Amino acid sequence: MTDLPNKADFAHVRDWVFDLDNTLYPHHVDLFAQIDKNMTAYVSALLGLSREDARALQKQYYYDHGTTLKGLMIHHDIDPLDFLEKAHAIDYGVLSPDLSLGEAIRALPGRKFIFTNGSVKHAEMAAKALGILDHFDDVFDIVAAEYMPKPAGATYDKFMALHRIETQQAVMFEDLPRNLLVPKALGMKTVLLIPQNENHEFVDAWEKRSEEDEHIDYATSDLTAFLNALL
Ligand SMILES: [Mg+2]
Repeated sequence: MTDLPNKADFAHVRDWVFDLDNTLYPHHVDLFAQIDKNMTAYVSALLGLSREDARALQKQYYYDHGTTLKGLMIHHDIDPLDFLEKAHAIDYGVLSPDLSLGEAIRALPGRKFIFTNGSVKHAEMAAKALGILDHFDDVFDIVAAEYMPKPAGATYDKFMALHRIETQQAVMFEDLPRNLLVPKALGMKTVLLIPQNENHEFVDAWEKRSEEDEHIDYATSDLTAFLNALL
C-alpha cells in the first residue's frame, strides 16, 4: 500500500496538516528513542523507581492516556512544562537538512501546519534541523491542546477552530493510524507514513497498521515523493 497519489484527489486541498515525529522525518532516524529515554529517567527520578519499573509505568500511562505526560499529570500532578523541557532535551544533530522535502512543502498551494503531541519548541528544533521550519504557517502543540493528545476529538476541534480549517479542504499526514480516524470522520484526506521497513523492531505492535484501516486513503514511506507527485 505504498501508493503515489491520484492528483485529482488533492486538487481541492487548501490546508496541509502534518504530524511531526516519524512523519516529517523518517522513522529510522529514531529521534523518539532519545525522548523515550528522557521520559523513563523523569519517571524514575520522580517516583524513585528502577529504570525497568519506570519504563513499565511510562508505557502504561502512554497506553491508558495517549501520552506519558497525560498520565503523569492525572496521577502525580506534575508540572507539564517542566516535563516537556526535560523530555525534549535531546540531540537534534541526528536530523540533517532535507532540502527536497522543504522544496516540496514550500510548493504546496495553501497553508501548512505542524500538529504534534510534542511541544512547540520540540517541533521548531526538529523542523529547523530539517531546514523546513520556514515553510509552515504555525505549530499546534500539546500545550495548545491543553495536554489532551491526539487522537482525542476535542483536540482536533480546537486545532481546526483556531485556524478556521475547512476539513473538507484539508489533508492530514500521520504515522499513527489511530490519529487518522478523526480526520477521516471530519472529511479530511488521510495519508499514513509507514516506515521503510515496517517490521522494524521499534514499531510497537499496538502502533502497527492493520489491513482493515479503511480510514486511511493513502500510505507511503516516502513523503517527499508523495508530495512531489501532487505538484
Ligand atoms: Mg508521529
